[in-house]
Amino acid sequence: MLGGYLPFVAALVALLVGVAAGKAWERYKLRDGRWIDRRKARESHHYVLGLNFLVANQTDLAIEELSQAARVDADALEIHLILGNVYRERGQVTRAIQVHQSLLKRQKLTRVEHGYVMLCLGLDFKRGGFVDRAVDAFREVLRLDPANYYALLNLQKLYEEQHQWDEARRIRLELLKLPGPETPARSNAILAFMDTELGLAAARAGQPDVAGRHFKQALELDPTTAPAHVGLGDIRLPQGDVAGAVAAWEKLIDIAPERAYLVFDRLQRAYERAGTPERFADRCRRLVAANPQDWRARLALGQHLAQHGRPAEGLEPLLEALVRNPHGLMVHEAIWDVLVQLGLDGASVQRYVQAAKDAVFYLDPHVCLKCHYRSTELLWQCPHCHEWNTFVEERIAPVKDPVEL
Ligand SMILES: [Zn+2]
Repeated sequence: MLGGYLPFVAALVALLVGVAAGKAWERYKLRDGRWIDRRKARESHHYVLGLNFLVANQTDLAIEELSQAARVDADALEIHLILGNVYRERGQVTRAIQVHQSLLKRQKLTRVEHGYVMLCLGLDFKRGGFVDRAVDAFREVLRLDPANYYALLNLQKLYEEQHQWDEARRIRLELLKLPGPETPARSNAILAFMDTELGLAAARAGQPDVAGRHFKQALELDPTTAPAHVGLGDIRLPQGDVAGAVAAWEKLIDIAPERAYLVFDRLQRAYERAGTPERFADRCRRLVAANPQDWRARLALGQHLAQHGRPAEGLEPLLEALVRNPHGLMVHEAIWDVLVQLGLDGASVQRYVQAAKDAVFYLDPHVCLKCHYRSTELLWQCPHCHEWNTFVEERIAPVKDPVEL
């Protein structure tokens, strides 16, 4: 909920700061031959009440009060801007566009005011899914105000959604020049992911050299960019550079061991190809030694040993993986494969059953719909939020409901 309001709150804050800075706003304005005190509209109780309702998320009441305030002074630009923004955040995009577009027709909008209106309009278009018009609106804001952080940020997001990584990257570099909430490290990480996307696109288009340059650039920006390491190995292998591919994937394990499993299959095949399959088992053992909770390395080790004719030896790391991740279906599947390979040896099956029982486990998980409290059984009153009859059975559903027969 809050997330949806953030761009709007940001725009509101920017607007109010602009108002306080004030050059664009004369206090008095001549209307119908009379001087109107412009501050009156903003000081009317409708305006203040409207802002209060806004902060309290009571948008219906906010719209009512702000509409009243707008009637007191039809010229007050910011009230109409805010009113339009509230319509947008409520999902009434057409209404928001109407309100904001009517402001554009006004005579004598200053450059700053024009920029604010276009920014709000761009947000309306973006919310309504009118991508091209949103891009045009944000571009117009930047023509009026080249250092507009919100216009740049929204433009970046739009290009990202369209997978136009080149454009998104260019905008991101513009944003780097402005003071913003992101740390330099975070900014580099974002740029690195964009470079990685450019690399992946080039690899798909059959341009491994271009792809390689993008991956390397990504890793210079942020050496922890896992998919860039994966991609670098993926373009080296088909070029016959097995050692280079292995080096890229091993680097990923060194730099981001928590992502090591992304390259388990690849490394296993590459080591086989190089005639040194035991290097894979070594890798897994080192990962486990460095992080005893690493159930994925134990799973990979167990499967590797079983595939190389050592199922009894492989069962040990698999049972250890089970203790650390009893909900992992992959672990149970791997264990059953090994048990079958062992001819369903009674003692081994018994060990598996006991290990599964001993692991802390929600045997029949139920979850409270109100507060997400979990329980191993159906409860009528939630011990956490004290609501009645809120528990449902928790299960991983198939993506699509099965077709009824
Ligand atoms: Zn609850």
